[in-house]
Amino acid sequence: MSTDFSDAPAWSIDTLAVRAGQVRSQFNEHSEALYLTSSFVFDSAAQAAARFSGAEEGNVYARFTNPTVTMMQERLAALEGAESCVATATGMAAILSTVMALMNAGEHIISSRSIFGATQQMFGNIFSRFGVETTYVDAGDIAGVRAAMRPTTRLVFIETPSNPLTEVLDIVAWAEAAHAGGALLVVDNCFCSPALQRPLELGADLVIHSATKYLDGQGRVLGGAVCGPKVHVDEVFKFLRTAGPTLSPFNAWIILKGLETLSIRMQAQSANALTLAQWLEAQPQVARVYYPGLPSHPQHALAMRQQASGGAILSFEVRPGQGDAREAAWRVVDHCHLLSITANLGDTKTTITHPATTTHGRISPEARQASGIGEGLLRIAVGLESPVDIQADLARGLAA
Ligand SMILES: *Cc1c(COP(=O)(O)O)cnc(C)c1O
Repeated sequence: MSTDFSDAPAWSIDTLAVRAGQVRSQFNEHSEALYLTSSFVFDSAAQAAARFSGAEEGNVYARFTNPTVTMMQERLAALEGAESCVATATGMAAILSTVMALMNAGEHIISSRSIFGATQQMFGNIFSRFGVETTYVDAGDIAGVRAAMRPTTRLVFIETPSNPLTEVLDIVAWAEAAHAGGALLVVDNCFCSPALQRPLELGADLVIHSATKYLDGQGRVLGGAVCGPKVHVDEVFKFLRTAGPTLSPFNAWIILKGLETLSIRMQAQSANALTLAQWLEAQPQVARVYYPGLPSHPQHALAMRQQASGGAILSFEVRPGQGDAREAAWRVVDHCHLLSITANLGDTKTTITHPATTTHGRISPEARQASGIGEGLLRIAVGLESPVDIQADLARGLAA
């Protein structure tokens, strides 16, 4: 009935991506089944009691577990090299559940400064109301992490590479600083995915995912996950099963099948991103390109140590020419016929974003300038289209 996984520890990540976690039903289906059921039936009153008490393992209710969700969790855990994984409704639900499960009022978070906008809002506007304070530290400032550490610091939270400037954070160094202060290092691994970066192997304690991005990879569903040692993931699961931001079985099935092509998508999209970054760097209308795969990137050596490639996301600064920088950047966006004008990323379709007026539009102009997000900056999340066609789409706006 279930697949034989006795060889699994020796399997490569590519094999695990298509095989790990599968459990077959009595029908012996080849492709993983989608179990659209909210509850499960027991053979007897005694079994119901045993399932509810936890004396017997098994499914009870889909807010707790569902076989399709379990398969997705097992597969993602295998890819991250994690002992355990729990899936959540969205990436934000993964961050919410981690903090709710592992922290108490009066405790403290240290975060890298440049993180996803909604995460920053959750730290600043929501957790703060429950007595959890957050201190921000710059990406390269390990001494700053040590200085910010308090006896109450429970979590150190980072994203690498950062959005949109692709700063690469040294996971080993951040983990050492977190552990020296008795805190756990949590890495949001959304931008790289386990196909390119495995933070747990570098000393991180927990990995957070928005499965909405590269894990699905085709822009279809929302989802999230927390991966790490069972002792912590079990706590997150206890919060989830009670509070309810659980992943739906349908979304889990989409993500489970998305994981099968994760590695080849990431390789192909990263290769396209490198080609595009090199081309952009040679354009006279482009002042600067931010891409960890380019030798001109300040943390290129670190990125090549820590990641399997430069990733699929890059940013670049358009030269203002005679007019102002925003006009020049918007002109590039508005001349795109192929690239999708959207703030989303992690899709097979290439997207283009003007961070200063969208994802980072609510930050004050001074703070934006201080963090290096200028009016001329554009972010591209490179998909699977031919780089030749992507270049032609951008060349039109650059020439205008
Ligand atoms: C999108 C994103 C999130 C939030 O994920 P949702 O699935 O939209 O809730 C968190 N972190 C990063 C880096 C993201 O890009």
